[in-house]
Amino acid sequence: MIQNEEINAFAYINDSIYVHTGLFTSVGSSIDQLAFVLAHELAHVLMKHPAKGDEFINKNPNATEEQYLKLSREMEFEADKYAVLYTMRAGYSPLGGIEWFNNMTNDGYEYTPHTMNSVTHPNFTARVVEVFKHIATYYEYARNFEYAQIYLNSGDYKNSIASYNKFLSAYPNFKEGYNNLAVAVLSQKISQKGINLEVLLPTTLSKVDFFTNLLQ
Ligand SMILES: [Zn+2]
Repeated sequence: MIQNEEINAFAYINDSIYVHTGLFTSVGSSIDQLAFVLAHELAHVLMKHPAKGDEFINKNPNATEEQYLKLSREMEFEADKYAVLYTMRAGYSPLGGIEWFNNMTNDGYEYTPHTMNSVTHPNFTARVVEVFKHIATYYEYARNFEYAQIYLNSGDYKNSIASYNKFLSAYPNFKEGYNNLAVAVLSQKISQKGINLEVLLPTTLSKVDFFTNLLQ
């Protein structure tokens, strides 16, 4: 937390999130707005966006500023997409994000077409449009994660694998999806060899816990 009235929060290359005290005034008493802004920063950290930005500069010393800003704005949209996933799964409303973007626009923080050319963030109006799309994506794809777990626990590995793949087609950077998909694939292979996994499994552990413990 940084004592600074400027409205800002950012993810840094050391996997930390820094929040200016000014951010709290911008979200008022809305827990959903605060949750969305923090989920957006969390997505930057989990997706290693600060490191990817540095890596891009190191690998492309001749890249134009325009190319860098394009990458940066893509990462912003991606962070919003995962912020929708994280907030909804945690029980907050992603509409808090839209409210916050609207507050910022109404308070005069929207970028003009002129300043847009030189900033790393897309404008708030564009982000509102995208967040609505991300909410639709959530309703279409996110539940496949839960379906896949139910299939996995009932021994239907084929449908479990299909459901994890459907989930990952929308959320390719959600690591737990790959972890669980690997468990489903391994379980399928073991069952095809005629080994009854239930016999190997301690009754208190789920299949996911079992493989996670095995790998540690
Ligand atoms: Zn951001």
